[in-house]
Amino acid sequence: MDSLPTSATNGPAGLSAEADAEPHARLTFDLDVDLCVIGAGLAGLSVALEAAQAGLSVAVLESGRIGWGASGHNLGSVTPGYGVPIGDLIARVGLDHASALWALTREGMEIVRARATEEAMPGVALSDGALEVSNVDIGDRLVERLQTLGVDFGSEVEGWPIDKVRDVLRTNRYFHGIHYPTAFQLDGRRYLRGLERLARQAGARIFEETPAVSIDFAGIRKRISTPNARLRASDIVLAGSVHLGAPSPRVAETLLPVWRTAALTAPLGEQLPDAIAFAGSIADTDGVDHYRIVGGDRLLWASGETTFDVAPQRLAGIIRRRIAAVFPQLGQVEIAQTFSAAVGMTVHGMPQVGELRPGLWVASGFGRQGLATTAIAGRLIARGLTHSDERWKLFSPFDLVWAGGTIGRIVGQGVYFATREGALAAGALARYRERAAARTRVRDARAEVKQEERRARVALLRAAEAANVPPPNAPSRRPVPPPSPE
Ligand SMILES: Cc1cc2nc3c(=O)[nH]c(=O)nc-3n(C[C@H](O)[C@H](O)[C@H](O)COP(=O)(O)OP(=O)(O)OC[C@H]3O[C@@H](n4cnc5c(N)ncnc54)[C@H](O)[C@@H]3O)c2cc1C
Repeated sequence: MDSLPTSATNGPAGLSAEADAEPHARLTFDLDVDLCVIGAGLAGLSVALEAAQAGLSVAVLESGRIGWGASGHNLGSVTPGYGVPIGDLIARVGLDHASALWALTREGMEIVRARATEEAMPGVALSDGALEVSNVDIGDRLVERLQTLGVDFGSEVEGWPIDKVRDVLRTNRYFHGIHYPTAFQLDGRRYLRGLERLARQAGARIFEETPAVSIDFAGIRKRISTPNARLRASDIVLAGSVHLGAPSPRVAETLLPVWRTAALTAPLGEQLPDAIAFAGSIADTDGVDHYRIVGGDRLLWASGETTFDVAPQRLAGIIRRRIAAVFPQLGQVEIAQTFSAAVGMTVHGMPQVGELRPGLWVASGFGRQGLATTAIAGRLIARGLTHSDERWKLFSPFDLVWAGGTIGRIVGQGVYFATREGALAAGALARYRERAAARTRVRDARAEVKQEERRARVALLRAAEAANVPPPNAPSRRPVPPPSPE
């Protein structure tokens, strides 16, 4: 079974959730390296692994414990694409550029799949397929999207009609779907631990509980200060996501922190496969719910976002209600654990990947889709550092844009509520339309039957009149009295 977060986590208190992992030493001595990576989440470890494999000497600084942030608290779905809608991406950079960016995420998926073998990462528990389902009846738009994904972007996708979706997800909430057969899921924590192990084996040195507190960018060798030691490095990668803080406030302020909450249910028994007969992950197109079955009989379900840190236990009720709304046959499920973590959202919705100034790189803003994207970001940056690949420049159109500070968070929360309420309302309207259409169909069918009966009766009457006999079942006419003998 997937290893799951063992306690509710949404901040430094969550370090206890990592008590099972072997701690790494703090940095207590000065060090000279080629590359210093700040942050040991998926992004930082991906860069460190690739750079160490390319022969660079690498030090990774982590202010807490590895997996403390979103990287240790996700649902483990490895899917193609970014958080930004395809149409918006094409409108911004054109079809060819958007297609090249999309292809990078497919490459990211392949990197993750190649790493996440049972031999290299025991218990990583790969399972195939992801389904994106629509809350509204948008068959025509789906065809357009399938055309872009399948033909223009060369992705493996299948369009699922309503019946097929409802065959595997027994709810009237969903209409059409897009199936990604090459997408997969894994145990996110075991993948992170495996990544850390591979990075260490490749020669990267990882220091936990060692925050980078300031950076002196001047000169060819940059200086990074930590509470107990200093590092000198030719290159620095900022991979601290929303927690980066002091070392580069300018970069930190380009991310809107969004706390995403998830819950693990208690075992749900026989009724679960009756409700959900799909082994992969399921997400709705509006980004309201994202879930999958884990351990055979539990649901791992993410729903609800806030731009301020809220204790995940307080959001457990929301998730329970969402499950009941989508699959009422499951009733009020018991929630065994809740957890939340902050992801970094950029204003344009795309990750920040590339060189900001000579020797200073960034890998952050991966939002809700960080598994494939951090893998490819790590490869692009490492190859950029060794000058063998300049594909990271594909991300250049997506500048660092200020995310609006506190006002940005308040506005972000308002937009989330409005979008979520809008999506829920649109879903309700679509289901109402579907029910209304079904009622109309029944009414039409009844009217058609009545019309048929009427036609048949008229035909019978006419035939009877022609034969001058009372038609069968015809209302009995008053019997004609026999002629009197007089
Ligand atoms: C509930 C939930 C479900 C999700 N599900 C999925 C999913 O199914 N599929 C998917 O692809 N993505 C998913 N995501 C998103 C994914 O987890 C993130 O995009 C990804 O983990 C981001 O990784 P990161 O390394 O950029 O950030 P983080 O994981 O936040 O790592 C940043 C690290 O940098 C450290 N740090 C920051 N500043 C400093 C400093 N000054 N000095 C030293 N260290 C520092 C932090 O302590 C932290 O450990 C989910 C996220 C959540 C919250």
